Amino acid sequence: MATEELRRQVVIIGSGPAGLTAGIYSGRANLNPLLIDAPADTEKQTTPGGQLMITTDVENYPGFSEGIQGPDLMVEFRKQAERFGTEFLEEWINKVDLSKRPFTLYTDNRVVTAETLIIASGASAKWLGIPGEAKTPNGFGGNGVSACATCDGPLPAFRNKRLVVVGGGDTAMEEATFLTRYAARVYVVHRRDKLRASKIMQDKALKNEKIEFIWNTDLTEIVGTHEQGVTGVRLRDVNTKEERSFECEGVFIAIGHRPNTDLFKGQIDMDPVGYILTNGHSTGTNIPGVFACGDVQDSVYRQAVTAAGTGCMSAIDAERFLDHLPVEMPSGEEVTIEGEHITADRKLIIEPTGEVISNVPVLEDC
Ligand code: NAP
Repeated sequence: MATEELRRQVVIIGSGPAGLTAGIYSGRANLNPLLIDAPADTEKQTTPGGQLMITTDVENYPGFSEGIQGPDLMVEFRKQAERFGTEFLEEWINKVDLSKRPFTLYTDNRVVTAETLIIASGASAKWLGIPGEAKTPNGFGGNGVSACATCDGPLPAFRNKRLVVVGGGDTAMEEATFLTRYAARVYVVHRRDKLRASKIMQDKALKNEKIEFIWNTDLTEIVGTHEQGVTGVRLRDVNTKEERSFECEGVFIAIGHRPNTDLFKGQIDMDPVGYILTNGHSTGTNIPGVFACGDVQDSVYRQAVTAAGTGCMSAIDAERFLDHLPVEMPSGEEVTIEGEHITADRKLIIEPTGEVISNVPVLEDC
């Protein structure tokens, strides 16, 4: 098959709130961005539009006082990016080469080269893979089963109900504590007798009278009807292997997220979990010209509005970089598109040739 080559100043990977906001901003800056995202694939669990495509009501995105459906919000984001000239390519990226600029991306049919790359490939909630967990109509996902308490907890379906949260980390403690605002009672089901969560988050959850812990227990099935949604779960004691039914009306799977960064492993700095490391003051990564925004670099906030905010930052960072203005790197040094490095103390400029020039103004005698 013929391989088509595409060249762009800005290539964005990912079509969630971060990637599309980067598209809106870099499109408005006349940078003719190309946004690449994987096609929908249930096996690979890819959904163009990101996690909001599997959310129902979004009540906390500013500007929608009555709330908006997640997929409808993403349609608006996408139309806005299109309006300013963002082009879309739905293809699976097989390989990237970030070793030199322009960066190269290889899809099945194309080679794409990019002067700047904005990584907005998001994170995916981890699932247990048990019966009843899949998205409706195959299971109760979106009908009583969720992986995001902040998104779905306040919905009427979960108010004054018995809710189960699975997991023993910070996410599970945070989600369980958050859900006590709405639920009648929250049951944390954890597979061990010790929590992995930080001490402060554990204490908060353990002291909360609305939270009950079910230790050494696995969730093996979520049961219910399509009309009523979730009506209960099956629990199994990990020691005795005894199984029992447990009544509840909602299940929140909180066993962590996986940043979608496999494609970049070994080429860009990441934390031990795989989140891309960015500089606190910018979306710059350790590679000059590569920026990261949204959930792929944020394990803490993970909200649509924060993802959109960092998407805006990454487009501005890419624009500055292409305008030959220095961009700050995680090390504190600044780098220009020509490859000039300005040291973290701003005292020296190191040219691409290796020549070192003083950046300290020379004061002439009056
Ligand atoms: P995590 O720390 O990896 O915890 C995942 C939890 O889910 C663990 O308790 C684990 O059990 C359990 N689990 C994993 N797979 C399971 C399975 N198949 N069946 C049953 N249980 C399973 O993930 P996280 O809680 O999402 O936290 C990830 C990172 O984000 C952490 O660094 C955390 O500190 C950070 N975070 C911070 C905040 C905050 O500061 N506000 C909030 C959320 C997350 P085991 O303990 O038995 O392994």
